Amino acid sequence: MKDEPRRVDVALGERSYPIIIGRGLLDDGELLREHIPAHEVMVVSNDTVAPLYLDRLASAFGTRRFASACLPDGEGEKRLESMLPVFDTMLVNGFSRDCRIIALGGGVIGDLAGFVAATYQRGVDFVQVPTTLLAMVDSSVGGKTGVNHPRGKNMIGAFHQPRAVIADLAVLDTLPVRELRAGMAEVIKYALLGDHGFLEWLEAHIDAAMARDPEAMAFIIERCCRNKAAIVTADERESGQRALLNLGHTFGHAIEGARGYGDWLHGEAIAAGMCMAARMSTRLGWISPAQRDRAIDLIRRAGLPVRAPDDIGAARFREFMARDKKNRHGELRLVLLRDLGDATVTADYDPDALDATLESAGH
Ligand code: NAD
Ligand code: MG
Repeated sequence: MKDEPRRVDVALGERSYPIIIGRGLLDDGELLREHIPAHEVMVVSNDTVAPLYLDRLASAFGTRRFASACLPDGEGEKRLESMLPVFDTMLVNGFSRDCRIIALGGGVIGDLAGFVAATYQRGVDFVQVPTTLLAMVDSSVGGKTGVNHPRGKNMIGAFHQPRAVIADLAVLDTLPVRELRAGMAEVIKYALLGDHGFLEWLEAHIDAAMARDPEAMAFIIERCCRNKAAIVTADERESGQRALLNLGHTFGHAIEGARGYGDWLHGEAIAAGMCMAARMSTRLGWISPAQRDRAIDLIRRAGLPVRAPDDIGAARFREFMARDKKNRHGELRLVLLRDLGDATVTADYDPDALDATLESAGH
């Protein structure tokens, strides 16, 4: 018997959209056609994901005008130049403003295809079909789209909400384990920043999740999407609460930057970054050592790093952290834990606690 898909709604007035979560959705032509009603369909994917899953989409849209663009795999492709062949394909096919773009891939494809949708003929509709755990729980929801510039990540982009997110859990079966772990770092982030009940659930089910148990994965993705949807609804353009989603990211971005992007995966860096935030929160007396250790243990059980590389040093950390987009008037704002399941964005902390955390590289 086929399970009914789960559904989470992102409530944003006329920009509202559903997130549909279930196993085998890519084989459900009826569901795909319902959520992708356009007569011109343009799929953007990459050369790892397309050979696995593009045919399923193509067969669902057999009678409509259908085109696809397939980029080489990798974060390095998330740049303006890679958008041009996508625009070319759409123009050559005479696609109008009524077309619909489908992003079939992880966060790289979702961000780029979303930005293509934001800009093709001043904006067309798009649908996210996320294929990594990270994309299902994070990047496909919320409408941040864009590409990198040689001088900085995500420096060019737009807010453009998708019309639907369709997460087929079956595609996670082919995801490399290292990518699964990296996505799990963002999952744990939601628990630590604002969902204590989910934290307890994860402590009990993390082993099942890492074994890709279908029930556990379905529960996780739905719960994370509910959390993200609530935060995005409250603060669509990140003027306040949405910054909580940066738990572990200020330290993590510094690790990525100091290591050179691509050495540590983003999820691995923010895993270590969340451990640093937990340790600093304990130094401030905000969470107990036992609470800190609970957070760190969960991260460790997901197979993720729990400390920064030893060789970065406080000065390099500060250099990268000074560039953080959350900073105001030269103040370093951090996401820290007032409690497990209760994060806050603040520049109001004892600087000695930060010094000690950076100097010990998170030990
Ligand atoms: P990714 O898109 O590079 O995918 C990771 C790897 O997995 C790639 O090699 C990809 O080809 C492969 N892959 C994808 N799905 C697969 C599958 N089902 N089976 C086998 N292999 C598969 O990386 P990611 O972690 O999904 O996304 C990272 C990107 O997301 C970054 O560019 C980041 O800036 C962005 N991001 C955006 C937001 C947002 O709000 N827009 C949020 C978080 C991250
Ligand atoms: Mg992240």
